[in-house]
Amino acid sequence: MRIGFLGTGTMGLPMAENLLRAGYSVTAYNRSPEKVQPLLQMGGKQAQNIAEAVRNQDVVISMLSDDSAVREVYLGNGGVAENAKHSFVAIDMSTVSPGTALEVQKHMNQLGIAMLDAPVSGSAGAAKEAKLLVLAGGPLETYEITRPILAAMSQAQFYFGPGGNGAKAKLVVNLLLALTMQGISEALVLAETLGLSRFNVLDMLSQSSVASPFLGIKKQMLIDESFPPAFALKYMRKDLNLILQAAIEREAVLPATSAAFASYTSAMHNGFAEDDLAAVMMELLRQSGYTGAKDSSFNLGL
Ligand code: NAP
Repeated sequence: MRIGFLGTGTMGLPMAENLLRAGYSVTAYNRSPEKVQPLLQMGGKQAQNIAEAVRNQDVVISMLSDDSAVREVYLGNGGVAENAKHSFVAIDMSTVSPGTALEVQKHMNQLGIAMLDAPVSGSAGAAKEAKLLVLAGGPLETYEITRPILAAMSQAQFYFGPGGNGAKAKLVVNLLLALTMQGISEALVLAETLGLSRFNVLDMLSQSSVASPFLGIKKQMLIDESFPPAFALKYMRKDLNLILQAAIEREAVLPATSAAFASYTSAMHNGFAEDDLAAVMMELLRQSGYTGAKDSSFNLGL
């Protein structure tokens, strides 16, 4: 099976690597070409443009930053739609609004191309270990045909029904992720303003009934105040925006999500956009008067 892969960023690269490990032929395109390099050493091929990445493939997979990137890559000049000259299946795995997912699918369907929206849950570490969750929407038949490919990148695949429903399910899980990070951060802000050691508090929380794998993954970043991006804060803020737009359309009441959106937006404006989403703690500490680990008015006990 030949796969064209569009977007070898933080998530796309390890996903494409796992497809090569599973024995698929992978031809990858990335706007910044140097990011495709690691795939070449594993037997992958590099396409110079989208046309080359789509040509002769059975399946085209995309993992791009946001709605506008997905629209541009599929519907823009020289994009996937313009190059849909043979039959293949398209799978967009980026996190985008359900509306964009559906619009792109409809456009591709008119060209005779079946398409899934199949965003993933799980960060860069899960992508490397092929332990993502895939949340799929689109024709059941297309999902079943492509499921072995999805399985090569993930530990579980969930089918949610018609086109756009994978994107909807992704908003649901990311709402909980954003609020979990916000909750952990607020607990740590309270701990420090009360003079408790952040290290001790995280140790205690890790063994409490509110412990989660997510807390385990982020714990060291929170102790070190170092946030190399597994999931960039700017992308969580993007997803909160999509969640609130969906909530407004459906008249859903999500007060804590609105508060979290304000925190992530403020963090983005204060220099944390490219950091991991766990850096939202730094923004809340900053708003609470914290000026750094040497701040004598905070008893970090690190
Ligand atoms: P990333 O490292 O920033 O990669 C984004 C990719 O999109 C890059 O390949 C980038 O190309 C490409 N791109 C952006 N705009 C483009 C355009 N106009 N034309 C062509 N290519 C374009 O992001 P990521 O962390 O891999 O995330 C990708 C998607 O997965 C996002 O929707 C994110 O919300 C979602 N997601 C991320 C995580 C996570 O933990 N990181 C987890 C689950 C889901 P360049 O390299 O040239 O910029």
